[in-house]
Amino acid sequence: MNLAQLLARSARVFPERPAVALGEQELYSYGELFRRSAAIAGKLRGGGGGVGKGLQPGDRVALFMANCPQYLELLYGIWHAGLVAVPINNKLHPREVAFIVGHSAASLLFVASDPGPNAQTWTDSAPGLRIVSVDGPAYRQMSSGDPIDIVARAPDDLAWLFYTSGTTGRPKGVMLSQRNLLAMTLCYFVDVDPATGSDSILYAAPMSHGAGMYNFAHVLVGARHVVPASGAFDVAEILTLSRHFGQLSLFAAPTMVHRLVEHVAVCRADCSGIKTIVYGGGPMYLEDIRRALAVLGDRLVQIYGQGESPMTITALSRQHLADRAHPRYRERIASVGVAHSVVEVVVADEDGRPLPAGSAGEVLVRGETVMQGYWRDTEASAATLRDGWLHTGDVGVLDGDGFLTLKDRSKDVIISGGANIYPREVEEVLLRHVAVAEVSVVGRPSAEWGEEVVAFVVCRPGLLAPTEELDRLCLDSIARFKRPKDYVFVGALPKNNYGKVLKTELRRHWSQQREN
Ligand code: AMP
Repeated sequence: MNLAQLLARSARVFPERPAVALGEQELYSYGELFRRSAAIAGKLRGGGGGVGKGLQPGDRVALFMANCPQYLELLYGIWHAGLVAVPINNKLHPREVAFIVGHSAASLLFVASDPGPNAQTWTDSAPGLRIVSVDGPAYRQMSSGDPIDIVARAPDDLAWLFYTSGTTGRPKGVMLSQRNLLAMTLCYFVDVDPATGSDSILYAAPMSHGAGMYNFAHVLVGARHVVPASGAFDVAEILTLSRHFGQLSLFAAPTMVHRLVEHVAVCRADCSGIKTIVYGGGPMYLEDIRRALAVLGDRLVQIYGQGESPMTITALSRQHLADRAHPRYRERIASVGVAHSVVEVVVADEDGRPLPAGSAGEVLVRGETVMQGYWRDTEASAATLRDGWLHTGDVGVLDGDGFLTLKDRSKDVIISGGANIYPREVEEVLLRHVAVAEVSVVGRPSAEWGEEVVAFVVCRPGLLAPTEELDRLCLDSIARFKRPKDYVFVGALPKNNYGKVLKTELRRHWSQQREN
């Protein structure tokens, strides 16, 4: 079945229900949202000289914009037309966007504002690409055109191409099928939260990522979708919206939860309008979750997932987080919970053999939500999907009751403010400086961001690499949030016998500093 059927069904069952709001302002009902997406689909397939003329089922359509009210109608319009959505994180650098539109061979790119000279870079990298601004007249025409019927799709047909950063520095396109996303949606009701039509889902985190994937469950029950007017994560605004709409749910990275908790604690703010806060995407430390529960009440649910099994590896339910009398309560709330209902989770040794409870190993996942592979990257697909199991690259321990605790990430990804930063990508940029001989980037613990990027730099003899110049290089090439917060100049990097840099040694630098 096509995911667009979820919206079609809700538009039939509750046509008058409010579907999309911008801040407190109600914009469209379910009937209207469906009509707009069906009209967009018509133009995408080329009806009446549409901008997408000639697009065939399976063609890719990219979205590079911040959260906005057009996001949902576009996603559903794309699926309605049998096409594949490629949502791009709006914080990415224009060059990173060029790579994604080129690699996915996107036919169309929707943007929020005039892209200026970037348009040329993007069309150079994806020949035939057309760029449409959702604020322009062409878009207005699209959403008011003639609707078409939903294009049939098979369960394994591609629906969402989710670009994640790769450890090699190049983003990889996770192929998520119609079946993957439908299974993920049903898990939301069983493992995360029984959403209802009286709820509102707030997009306080990017819709291009996990937060956007929570749209399906809420479309299915006819709940309201609220895009914050600020377009960002603003704690005061979230609380105002929660009081206005009531029963508000949202996905938030641990950093966001931390900010919300501090605000509510200091201002003694009323958070009774918040129904559920789903947190995940990065580690939440034990003391932080205890404080969050004490300040916000039993409104939290944790999920552990990755693009390759989106939002669905394990969940720590509201009931588990509230079960304070349980003898292993502390261990449980420090864990990421139990396997989602449609996946198997094991902890395995290097040969993929399941390990007994209590042993640390790589987390492997198998089930309906696991991706089809990486787009046009058979090598990476074969390395990650082995013997039917997704190799997550995360190291964890399962207890006898099936609760998984994550120990470390075997990949060296830095998670800062909920965003993943791959060191290699930053290292490659810094190595372009003429004075830089060697560099290694690691995450330093940060109370505010979870981790922050720090670069260890070895300069060539007799040369200096001023930090302003290193910063400039980064700003010219990669997203601002990936730039190092600090540079440490060293004579040499610690290495093992194979000449590999020992990042664990570099990270030890901080713990040694704390001890001294
Ligand atoms: P991404 O593919 O960008 O969603 O990043 C996925 C990675 O984030 C996982 O492989 C984990 O390393 C980490 N992660 C996701 N959820 C959690 C969580 N609840 N606790 C700790 N780490 C997490």
